[in-house]
Amino acid sequence: MAKQGAEVVKTLMKHGHMVTITQEIDFATASEIAEEFNFILEEKVEVDIFEETFAEIPDNEEDLVPRPPVVVVMGHVDHGKTALLDAIRKSNVAAGEAGKITQHIGAYTVALNDKHVTFLDTPGHEAFTAMRMRGAQVTDIAVLVVAADDGVMPQTIEAINHAKAANVEIIVAINKIDKPSANPDRVKQELLEHNIVAEEFGGTTICVPVSAHSKQGIPELLEMITLVAEMKNLRANPNKKARGTILEASLEKGRGTVATVLIQQGSLEVGDTVVAGSIYGRVRAMLDDNRKKVKRALPGTAVEILGLPDVPQAGDVLYASVNERQARHVAESHFAKGRADMIKAMPQKVSLDDLFTQIKAGQVKELNIVIKADVQGSVEAVRQSLEKLSNEEVKVRIIHGGVGAITESDVMLAAASTAVIIGFNVRPEPSSKSVAAEYNVDIRLYRIIYQAIDDVNAAIKGMLDPVFAEKVVGHAEIRQIFKASGIGNIGGCHVSDGKILRSSKVRLVRDGIVVYEGEIDTLRRFKEDAREVSAGYECGIVLSKFNDIKAGDVVEAFTMEEVVR
Ligand code: GDP
Repeated sequence: MAKQGAEVVKTLMKHGHMVTITQEIDFATASEIAEEFNFILEEKVEVDIFEETFAEIPDNEEDLVPRPPVVVVMGHVDHGKTALLDAIRKSNVAAGEAGKITQHIGAYTVALNDKHVTFLDTPGHEAFTAMRMRGAQVTDIAVLVVAADDGVMPQTIEAINHAKAANVEIIVAINKIDKPSANPDRVKQELLEHNIVAEEFGGTTICVPVSAHSKQGIPELLEMITLVAEMKNLRANPNKKARGTILEASLEKGRGTVATVLIQQGSLEVGDTVVAGSIYGRVRAMLDDNRKKVKRALPGTAVEILGLPDVPQAGDVLYASVNERQARHVAESHFAKGRADMIKAMPQKVSLDDLFTQIKAGQVKELNIVIKADVQGSVEAVRQSLEKLSNEEVKVRIIHGGVGAITESDVMLAAASTAVIIGFNVRPEPSSKSVAAEYNVDIRLYRIIYQAIDDVNAAIKGMLDPVFAEKVVGHAEIRQIFKASGIGNIGGCHVSDGKILRSSKVRLVRDGIVVYEGEIDTLRRFKEDAREVSAGYECGIVLSKFNDIKAGDVVEAFTMEEVVR
């Protein structure tokens, strides 16, 4: 319109829209303002080039045939995920050939009578969540591996929550039952606490006792998977152009780009032109999970494809096109749209600050929350109080709760589920902070339960006060404790980053858990009072009214600053 920004903002404000010059406004508001300047706006509808070109046409009932379920194996470390995947794979290969299997292509399909099951060959929920974060929903069933001699462990709980958040059916494999110390009933009992109720206990979750070592129970596990798959009525039409998801891709010496694709609809054939992201090319050859050359790959199976000119990203959707021109057009348009645009298209992240705006705009109906706290009791207390805040407009849903520092895995879960993280007497691990910044995950840290509740409540009602936000100014590690009569324990510290100010507020963090928050009583360098001590230097710290410091504790110094909104 060739108007000054300030003039536009002034008009916006006159109309009751309190916005700054860099803020985005919606189309309706923009039109209203433009009219003031005698302009009529026309909305440019942006269509996704892939969805437009490869629009899904509903299949005819008679064209649909059952497809293998796609299964991911999750569970605590060392509970036998890898061993189980290997055992399943080997149990299905003719004797003599088993030894030859060394290469994994990212997924493999096994047969049980005339039925098939496809396993993703990357165990663990990190891969699963990373895929979900890119918007790819590839799995139908999660096999939760729990060692019968160890029971439910922290990553078991994480895996349960990841699977639930993704709405994926869980089947429990109680592994290592060959061990004398195995106690499958205890596992089932422990799972109850996480709302996984075994069929034997009147619930709906299938639990199969297995041993990856003795191979006991593996046929039963496969059978249960096919049973669940049948109930889910998983079907696809094999007679159309393929659509799939890239599971992994790399550049291999002598072979060029090798990409493993999980075919989800249609069939992929050698000679097809495909496009994934900005990359397009012809499928020169395809190998199945036994490294045999194949000409055609069916829905629910994975193949390695050769022939792409460049390496696509895991999680990208791959489409077979009608001809090369179409593929090139799509790939080039996609490229031209640029990275900035892709970021914009990513699911909107929720933050407590703009929650109300999003509720009003109808973008948020559910507020997902991940809770981390110092003790289980607090997790439960926070969970119960927060869930009570649900109203007609928003439902507050706690998707994960656990004890300990906020980990990268928590942040990934929050990012994939557009959740806010609430930390209660805990701190984020340093790596979690950067991941949270990258994915725009809102982490809120509290010391008092009712403050957390107040904030969430205020956010839902649109009354979150912009008060003060803390700014961490530095960290010091306590290396040694010196006892001084009349003073108490002095922490001999090394300032690891930033600086410690005499006037700063501090908290004492032990193994990721906040054990004290308050002030510094004395800060000294070589017996001299100091106003501040910078990174790299040693100092002595006495905390105000807190004596129980230990070597290895970290003193985190912070100041409170007003936030501009
Ligand atoms: P992952 O970390 O979950 O992938 O666990 P692994 O598959 O690496 O297994 C961890 C350990 O448990 C290995 O030493 C395996 O040999 C052992 N293990 C796995 N399954 C069984 C089983 O069924 N019985 C026994 N006795 N040991 C098992």
